[in-house]
Amino acid sequence: MTESEVLGSRARTKIVATIGPACQDRAILEKIVLAGVDICRLNMAHGSRSVHEQFVATIREVEQAVGRPLGILVDLAGPKIRLGQLTEDPLPCEVDTELTFVRGEQVEPGQLTCNYTRLIDELKVDDRVLMADGTIEMVVLERSDEHARCRVLQGGLLRSRQGINLPGVELSAPTLSDVDRDNAIWAASVGADFVSLSFVRKPDDMVELRQLLDQYDSNALTIAKIEKPKALENLTEIVKVSDGIMVARGDLGVEIDVATMPVAQKQIIDACSIWSKPVIVATQMLDSMQRSSRPTRAEATDVANAILDGTDACMLSGETAIGDYPVESVAMMNRIMKSTEQMCMSGREQLQGNQDEQVNPVASAVVRGAGRIADEIHARMVVVVTKSGATALTKAKQRDFIPTVAVSDCQRTLRQMCLYWGIHPLPGAPEDFDQQLVSFISRWGQEQGQLQPGDRVVLVGGTGVKDEVHNLVLIHQVHE
Ligand code: PEP
Repeated sequence: MTESEVLGSRARTKIVATIGPACQDRAILEKIVLAGVDICRLNMAHGSRSVHEQFVATIREVEQAVGRPLGILVDLAGPKIRLGQLTEDPLPCEVDTELTFVRGEQVEPGQLTCNYTRLIDELKVDDRVLMADGTIEMVVLERSDEHARCRVLQGGLLRSRQGINLPGVELSAPTLSDVDRDNAIWAASVGADFVSLSFVRKPDDMVELRQLLDQYDSNALTIAKIEKPKALENLTEIVKVSDGIMVARGDLGVEIDVATMPVAQKQIIDACSIWSKPVIVATQMLDSMQRSSRPTRAEATDVANAILDGTDACMLSGETAIGDYPVESVAMMNRIMKSTEQMCMSGREQLQGNQDEQVNPVASAVVRGAGRIADEIHARMVVVVTKSGATALTKAKQRDFIPTVAVSDCQRTLRQMCLYWGIHPLPGAPEDFDQQLVSFISRWGQEQGQLQPGDRVVLVGGTGVKDEVHNLVLIHQVHE
């Protein structure tokens, strides 16, 4: 498949794919990218440094081979609490069974340990302890300096090293642990385009991550994973200090009542629209495709609904990392996205009204005007010249369907725009907003089969690519 075919066949909504054993092979990685992946996620909760380094090298090779920018997202695990080794694995937990958290690593039957040494100190009688993805629920009956005795309220099968969620428990663990800091520094050293942080609770968590990345000269965009009730309480402030947001439904659906999660997803996406921040909806989107070549009806609907909610990107986790059908999962997600976008194209609503005060009002008006002009004159393409990507993001948030190409002289910006809805980052275009760029776009568009003589193109820029304010709209008609 050529890049021209890919450009025409790809959805506007972006696809983030988690890299793992199922797609680490160079040939498979190339296939999933050609099927529609824009951003590769490296999950720091799994795999060694050398494995992640190999992933980065392969992703950059594939980026070269397919000839379009690919973003790399390094996902920091944050203060995830995990069980230690069980005496019996798996361990059936019946309702009313008592299990006791003890210190250290040695356990006897009926005892549990975990990787968070202060757990026993910070639990209180009546606190709820959820395990095994929220399927097992316990309540704390009694606590002493040495143990916390719990009773199982909802039973299930427990396995060693499964995650523990403590909704409503205020943990003193820092959001950015020493391991996360080390991984963030590594992310900076390999030129990651995005760094996400798990279990964010307050805006300062993200400020700390930004400062750390700045210290190591990384311009990676910071992504806050919203998966704690505290993060929902502080949502606006977290959105304002982050470069993007992930609706991390895996843990969010355990930390809050799963019945309230669909509306929480909508609220998070709305906050991102107001503050012009890209947003990723993650986890279990096509979960059954780990073992089946087709998704369930509910999963297809979930992807479509995320788009209707206004997400910029959807994420695949186990589907691409460890599933049997990584390529099919990406192709299916792309197909659902395209079909949804097509069907809502006619009845689209522009996201107007609430405006981000941080976007320059001149740039915002110029981009909005350019979209309207393009619509009115039936332009085939909008071209946005951008240094930081901010103008492309403003255009993305308009949610119009005119193919939009973003030109930048900054490779980091090109890769980061992989997250922006409907934006096709184009490397190698001339920097200045003048005849050189116009003829480059005309030639490239015709080569790609996207433009023909007579087609109109609307170009948005400033007096030069380095200008911060976009104050120019140019309309060009492609000639022979
Ligand atoms: C999630 O919880 O939905 C998520 C994306 O994070 P992780 O995969 O690290 O659990």
